[in-house]
Amino acid sequence: MAKTDTLLVFDETVTRAGIEGWLRHLETAGTPTEMYRLGGTLVLSVADVDLIDKAGPELPAPTRQVSRNSDVWLGRKELRPGGTEVSLGPATIGDGSVAVIAGPCAVESPEQTLATAAVVTDHGAVGLRGGVFKPRTSPHSFQGLQWDGLDLLAEARERTGLPVLTEVIDPEHVKRLAAVVDGLQIGARNMQNFALLTAVGQSGLPVVLKRGFGCTVDETIAAAEYLLLEGNDQVVLCERGIRTFETSARFTLDLTAVALWKERTHLPVMVDPSHSGGRPELVGPLSLAAVAAGADALLIDVHVQPEQALCDGNQALRPQQFADVMARLAPLATGLGRHMSGGPTDRRPGVR
Ligand code: PEP
Ligand code: MN
Repeated sequence: MAKTDTLLVFDETVTRAGIEGWLRHLETAGTPTEMYRLGGTLVLSVADVDLIDKAGPELPAPTRQVSRNSDVWLGRKELRPGGTEVSLGPATIGDGSVAVIAGPCAVESPEQTLATAAVVTDHGAVGLRGGVFKPRTSPHSFQGLQWDGLDLLAEARERTGLPVLTEVIDPEHVKRLAAVVDGLQIGARNMQNFALLTAVGQSGLPVVLKRGFGCTVDETIAAAEYLLLEGNDQVVLCERGIRTFETSARFTLDLTAVALWKERTHLPVMVDPSHSGGRPELVGPLSLAAVAAGADALLIDVHVQPEQALCDGNQALRPQQFADVMARLAPLATGLGRHMSGGPTDRRPGVR
């Protein structure tokens, strides 16, 4: 029977000298060893389990030992049973709070972007979304303001203090976007664009990885592994609806994915009720259900004038509708023993 490799997991308390001792021990025994960094955690993959028992007392004990028996190594829950916290600017996703990132589907104009940013800030969002490069089904649809839109996101952040999240569709764009924004989104259509995943992983920026609408729960976890392999542990998995036989909503929101990702990975989970439901009326119920299912964060489309929107106006919430959804989420969070990120019990400098 083939031997199963073991992952030795070392947290931040283990010194570099201790890790080097382990590497020497394994090298002397002639065993190939791979070392991975996952944020502040170091992981050694060891082929010969017996060598672990033969380590001298001078070597630091691993924080935990996990058998490497699947395609998913670095994302597995067992590596960090307490979960990973992702910092999007001053906001934290995965600390038990409910974080709402909201804004227009696309950055369209200074007026639309700045007015929408002000609205979502006032109603308790802790991050601003806004696409400048839009992956549209038809090449004849609005493709986004592209580089011209980036300055608008920066200006919106300056005015509101909210960190900004934007989608990246091309590995060549990663560095220039990462120099300005606080977080990068990989869209559903690019979940398995492996060159893009690697480039975004290397940016070190927080990443929202959206599930492809034809991809499984486990394929999404495997895609996240490409980001983690670059040493970037700031990864959020996002359920945004999948294609099923059901045609009465834009997509079918699969809340099972939320529970399974929370069970199988240490990564925080986000839900996008706007792209899944595809109608403003569905955003409230789907948001509540997502939080009840354990989602750490929500990604919500808001627009000051949805009828004028150049992209996805038919699913965007008007300011008052967004205020209503936020007002309904707060008591649910409290009932679950949680709180709204950035809310009255979570005031930190820079977070409204
Ligand atoms: C978006 O969030 O603007 C978007 C394009 O979403 P998705 O990739 O989930 O379709
Ligand atoms: Mn959209």
